[in-house]
Amino acid sequence: MNNSSFERFQPIAFLSTNTQEIPIIRSLSQNLPVTIWLPNSTKSLENQELARDNLKYYNDSLSEHLTNIWRKYRAFVFCLATGAVIRLIAPLLKGKDCDPAVIVIDRAGKFVISLCSGHQGGADLLAKLIAHQIDATPVITGASSSLQLPAIDILGYPYGWVKGSGNWTGVMAALARQEQVQVIQETGNTLWQHKHLENKIFDFDSATTTIPQARIWISEQKRNFTQSQLPQVQWHPRVLWIGIGCERGTSTVVIEQAVIATCEKYNLAHDAIAGIATIDIKADEVGILELCNCWNVPLKTFTSEKLKQVTVPTPSEIVRQEVGTSSVAEAAAICAVEKDVNSLIVPKQVFKEKGKPGGVTVAVAKANREYTGRTGKLYLVGIGPGSLAQITPAAKVAITEADVVIGYSLYLDLIQPLLRPEQIIESFPITQEKQRGERAISLAESGLTVAVVSSGDCGIYGMAGLVLEQLKVQHWDGNTPKVEVLPGISALQAAASRVGAPLMHDFCAISLSDLLTPWEVIKKRLEAAAMADFVTALYNPRSQKRTQQIITAQEIFLKHRDKNTPVAIVRSVYREEEQITITTLETMLDNAIDMLTTVIIGNSNTCNYQDWMITPRGYLENIF
Ligand code: SAH
Repeated sequence: MNNSSFERFQPIAFLSTNTQEIPIIRSLSQNLPVTIWLPNSTKSLENQELARDNLKYYNDSLSEHLTNIWRKYRAFVFCLATGAVIRLIAPLLKGKDCDPAVIVIDRAGKFVISLCSGHQGGADLLAKLIAHQIDATPVITGASSSLQLPAIDILGYPYGWVKGSGNWTGVMAALARQEQVQVIQETGNTLWQHKHLENKIFDFDSATTTIPQARIWISEQKRNFTQSQLPQVQWHPRVLWIGIGCERGTSTVVIEQAVIATCEKYNLAHDAIAGIATIDIKADEVGILELCNCWNVPLKTFTSEKLKQVTVPTPSEIVRQEVGTSSVAEAAAICAVEKDVNSLIVPKQVFKEKGKPGGVTVAVAKANREYTGRTGKLYLVGIGPGSLAQITPAAKVAITEADVVIGYSLYLDLIQPLLRPEQIIESFPITQEKQRGERAISLAESGLTVAVVSSGDCGIYGMAGLVLEQLKVQHWDGNTPKVEVLPGISALQAAASRVGAPLMHDFCAISLSDLLTPWEVIKKRLEAAAMADFVTALYNPRSQKRTQQIITAQEIFLKHRDKNTPVAIVRSVYREEEQITITTLETMLDNAIDMLTTVIIGNSNTCNYQDWMITPRGYLENIF
C-alpha cells in the first residue's frame, strides 16, 4: 500500500449509510489508510469482506455522528448522493482555512468529486489521488484547475511557508480573470517562479510600468493592506531565527510577549519565525521549551565556546562573566542561520520590567533558506512502457502527489495528464542521469517530495539504482529524505505481452550498451545466456553510433541455438508508434532495430503459433 502519498491528509474518514458499496469500500480500505464508518444497522451483515481493523460503526444518525467526528479528521470521503452530503456538511462548515477536505464518490466508483476545501483543505489533490488509486475520474471544478493556473492559496505549502493576511479571494479572482498579478518575493525559495517566467500570468519585475490588478508578497515582513484598493496577499517563508537569552525561571508569557513586541517593532511577521536559538545551558529552560511547543517551532542550542566566536554588535561583559560568552541572543541567532553578523536584522532587545521577576533578551537573524518543517521524500517511479493504461495506480498517485517531478523530457510528455499546475517539472536530456539524480536528492533534502521517473521499471536500467548509489556515497541516514521505490512494467514484460508468452521459462535481460559496462563483460554474459538456453531480452540493442553489438550478439546466439529460433523485435511498445515483428534468429537483423527497441530471443523450445510466440513451460508435454 502506497500510504505515504496520503500522509498529509491523515486522518481520513470514509462514511456510508449501507453496505451496497462494499466493492468500492473494499478497494478504498485495501489501498488507502482510511477509517470506514458504517451504521450500526449493517453490523449484522458482518461485513465479512471488509478489513476489520479500520472498520467502525456509528449508533446515531449520520448527521449527529458527523457532528461528533467533524473536528477529528482532516478529510471526509462520502459514498452518498452529493445533495445529501451538502445538507449534512452545511451546518458544520466554518471557513476555507479550517474546514476539512470533503470528497464524494459515486456508488459505482466512477467519479471522485472534490466537493469542499479544494485548495487549503487539499480536497482537489486528494480527489485526484483517490481517483488514480481506484481508477476513477477526478471531478475538480475550481477555476485554477480548469485554467491550469497554480492555486495561489496553496503555493507556499511545499516550502513550509505560512499564509498571511490579505484579500485572498480578490487575488484569486484576478488570477481567474487572467489579469496581471504582480509578485514581490523578498525571501524564500524561488523555484516555483521558473515555470511562470514565460507565461504572462505573473509579473515578477517590481520596476515594471504596467499597473497590476493584484499583488502577492512573499516576505518575512508583515504588511498591512487596509488602505489599499488593490487586492493583496502575503505568504511568509519561515526564515527568522529568534535568539533568546533569559534569566532562569522567566515565564513563557514574558518570553512570548518579548518576541511579539520585537516582531511588531520591526514589522516582522510572527508567521515567518522558523525557530528559536539559545545557549545550551538553557536547553531545559521551561519558558523557552513551552514557547517552542506552543508555536510548534524547533529549538537550536549552542555551546558558549561556539557563541563566543561570533562577532556581535552588542556584547556584554556581565553576560560573559556569567555564562562565558559575551552574547547569547545575538550570537545564537547568528549561529542558527549559519551566517555572519550581516544576517542579524534585529540587534539585542532587552525586556526587563522593574520589580518583576524574569528578564529576556531577543535578537533576530534571517536565514538564506526557509525552514520547511517537512522531511523530504524521494519517489523513484517506473512509469511503464508508455501508455498511461500501463502505469500502476500507486505510481500515478506518487507522481501526482509530488511537489517536483524530474525526468527525461520524452517520459514527462507521456505522463503529462498526471501533472498538476502547481508542480515543478524539471526535464533533463537523456544523457544527464547523474545530474538528474543529484538534483532530485538536493531538492528532497530541502524538504520537498520529488518524483524521479524512469520508463519501464525504475530499478531495471533505470534511475532507482543510481539515486540509491548517490545517496550511499553521501552517507545518507536511511530516513532523510525518505525513499520509496514504485515499480513499473519493464520493456521486456511489455514487449512479451504484445507477442504472446515468450518469457514463460527462465529468462534474462542483457543491455548491449557498453557506455557503463565493458563490452568484454557483455559478451561473456551473452555467451553464458546463449549456452544456458535462457530466453534473452536485449535492451539498448543498437544506437546510431553503436551498431556492431547486435551483430555480435546474433553470432553468439547462432553458435548455441537453431537459426529458426523465434525472435521478437518490439519497438515503442504501448506507444503510438509501436512496431512488432516476429522473426527468426537468422533473419533478425533484416529489421529496423534501434534504441527504442527490445529484442527477445526465444529458447530452444520457443515456438510460434498464429501471430504469437510461446515458450512452453512443460505443462502439456515434458520438454526436458
Ligand atoms: N527502465 C527501462 C529500461 C531503460 S533502458 C525498463 O524497465 O523498461 C532503455 C531500453 O529499454 C531501450 O533501449 C529499449 O531497449 C528498452 N525500452 C524502453 N522502453 C521501450 C518501449 N516502449 N518499447 C520497446 N523497448 C523499450
